[in-house]
Amino acid sequence: MKRNLLCMTAPVRDGFDIPCHEIGPSSSHPAIALVAGLHGDEINGIFILSRLADFLNSVEAGKYPELRLVKRVLIIPAVNVLGVNLRTRTWPFDKTDINRMFPGSTSSETTQRIAYAVLEATKRAEYRIDIHTASIDFEEISQVRLYGPSDDERATARKFGLPAIMERSLSPVFTTTMMHSWKAWPGESFVLRVGQAGTVQLQHCQRVFRAMVSFLGKIGVLEGVDIAVEDEDVCYFDKPSAHRVFAEKAGMFVSDRSVGRWVRAGEEVGYIYDSFGGNVIEKVVAPVAGLLSGIRRHPLLFEGDLIVRINKKG
Ligand SMILES: [Zn+2]
Repeated sequence: MKRNLLCMTAPVRDGFDIPCHEIGPSSSHPAIALVAGLHGDEINGIFILSRLADFLNSVEAGKYPELRLVKRVLIIPAVNVLGVNLRTRTWPFDKTDINRMFPGSTSSETTQRIAYAVLEATKRAEYRIDIHTASIDFEEISQVRLYGPSDDERATARKFGLPAIMERSLSPVFTTTMMHSWKAWPGESFVLRVGQAGTVQLQHCQRVFRAMVSFLGKIGVLEGVDIAVEDEDVCYFDKPSAHRVFAEKAGMFVSDRSVGRWVRAGEEVGYIYDSFGGNVIEKVVAPVAGLLSGIRRHPLLFEGDLIVRINKKG
């Protein structure tokens, strides 16, 4: 069932809504809440969740007779609805980041009201998932991010079967994120980071879509999913495992490497070319052996820009 999480009026145009899907047996709160598009240019998450809603609605309609949805699922594919229309990360009217507006309030500016409505709809769920991407210049491996996790969250994170789990402490600075507000509630909270902003990367999206369906099976929300096949190694990384390479010179960075592959120390991962002369001015090599978890995709570099990130296996 589609309903509107929030209906808002606008000064000189029709009002606009933030729609959500509520699928499966009715209950006082959803078993799982899935959110994407807090940032309007992070399209992978919007694509994954809208496709997941379509799939679960098809399950409900009986198109997959072997599958049965036994618990309530809430899906909000695009929180920043106007940002998606205008291809902006922030809320277009006042350029605020919705993920810095939590917990929000009912009687305040627009983005605070949006944050409040999203938090109210999701906070009582047993599992809460917020999907993001890296920036528009950078591609990351599909990963689960844990923030100051409980042991239960660490164990559950493996059920996604995504290649990397990255653990971070809960930031004492960014206390106005949705994750920070979620952590005050019982239940488990996860961020998935998928690829790069500004575009749909089908390979990442398909992998995370399959991961989500398998996850719904493993947590007992969707019955009949084949969860017998275990994914290959899931690697667990903390913050000190990340090694970064920054550009020593400006130029044009080009690489044919894909994220998610293992590299050796000293292995070449790309080249910086002189963008006028075309000559190679720097060979970029992996500083350590590890998983190539992120790589710059926008070719034009300034000195000091992040080029690659490699996570060393602990
Ligand atoms: Zn984001």
